[in-house]
Amino acid sequence: MSSTVSDPDTFNRSLYDSILVRYGELALKGRNRPLFEKQLAANVKRTLRGIDGRPERHWGRLFVKDVTNVHEAIERLTRVFGLVSVSPVVTVSLEMEAIFDAARRVMTEVVEARESSEPLSYKVEARRSDKTFPLDSMELNREVGSTVGEALEGRVRVDLYHPEVVLGLEVRTEAAYLFARRIPGPGGLPVGTVGKVISLLSGGIDSPVASYLAMKRGCHVVFAHFHSAAFVGQKSLLKVMDLARELARWQPYTRLVVFPFAEIQKEIRRGAPEAYRTVLFRRMMQRITDRLRREEDAGAIVTGESLGQVASQTLTNLHTIARAGEAEVLRPLITYDKEEVIALAERIGTYEISVRPHEDCCTVFQPKAPATKSRPRDLETIECGLEWEELVEQCYADREAHDF
Ligand code: ATP
Ligand code: MG
Repeated sequence: MSSTVSDPDTFNRSLYDSILVRYGELALKGRNRPLFEKQLAANVKRTLRGIDGRPERHWGRLFVKDVTNVHEAIERLTRVFGLVSVSPVVTVSLEMEAIFDAARRVMTEVVEARESSEPLSYKVEARRSDKTFPLDSMELNREVGSTVGEALEGRVRVDLYHPEVVLGLEVRTEAAYLFARRIPGPGGLPVGTVGKVISLLSGGIDSPVASYLAMKRGCHVVFAHFHSAAFVGQKSLLKVMDLARELARWQPYTRLVVFPFAEIQKEIRRGAPEAYRTVLFRRMMQRITDRLRREEDAGAIVTGESLGQVASQTLTNLHTIARAGEAEVLRPLITYDKEEVIALAERIGTYEISVRPHEDCCTVFQPKAPATKSRPRDLETIECGLEWEELVEQCYADREAHDF
């Protein structure tokens, strides 16, 4: 497929009136299908808030009809997980002249948007769901192909096997639809079909990417952030809000819950061996987040942890941290190299925010030589020497929610 046809920025905005939305057939096995379709339609509707357009379900596809701002609508739809591709569509009445005219306009539009002057290879692919229509799909292919060939002589050529462009025509009982562009969607599963999770969002590079991957696999993500205003300043909070706002583009509703963490950190600094600080901070976060998880009725906690990336992310430390709570812990990046995480962060637009130079609450008190081995039992013993229960209560009570 040529890049022109899949680039959402090149098309003639006034030509198209509707959008055809395709979603993953493979993900649609068995009983999950109705849930998947219902959630997808709801997410599409939500993402088109403020834009004219009516989503309608038809036989394994979704049409968004009568869209005024097709360009903006497609831009938003390319961030709806579960979508495989979208096409801007021209809708016409069920008369051959109207169909021919639309076919010529759609192909002219695609040819004129290209930079190359070579003839564009294409084929027509008609589908007739209205069996009373006088021409069958073979005849439609032939007739439409010949009118396009005449109108664009020398600028297009038919290639049935490896065409750059497929001119789609769908003849239904209410109207005919034509399209030639296919803009890729993000794939994955519709947000909400798998359930809810709480994602621990720091201001770093990893946790936004981990959150994105959880959303891509159908999780509705609620963000939790631990903040030490006293030590790192308000700017680091703004950074996390910007990250949450950026990630909010990928799901219908987004909530960020911010917990004030300074008092807990001070107590750990006072009463625990320096080497265990990071693991202790993370255990306290785990406890508090687990409580939020229960309140939100969420199924798991997501982190940006990656094996061996920093001294605190060893097998034993990951275990010791997770054991502070009861939740299932999902770590989408566990096997990723840093380069892979950075590449994905750049692609989804969080990298630039993450590299802004504001400190995270954990880096402020980072031990010079963090413990790389730990056991839950040892940490429990250390925690016995800390006055943490009341501080955890207070931290939970003082949380603040922000909705995006
Ligand atoms: P990141 O780039 O996501 O900050 P990291 O490689 O810097 O990750 P750590 O700082 O050890 O690793 O944090 C590991 C994970 O713990 C993070 O990915 C995040 O999920 C969680 N985490 C760390 N600090 C915070 C925080 N202040 N608020 C919420 N979650 C946090
Ligand atoms: Mg970090």
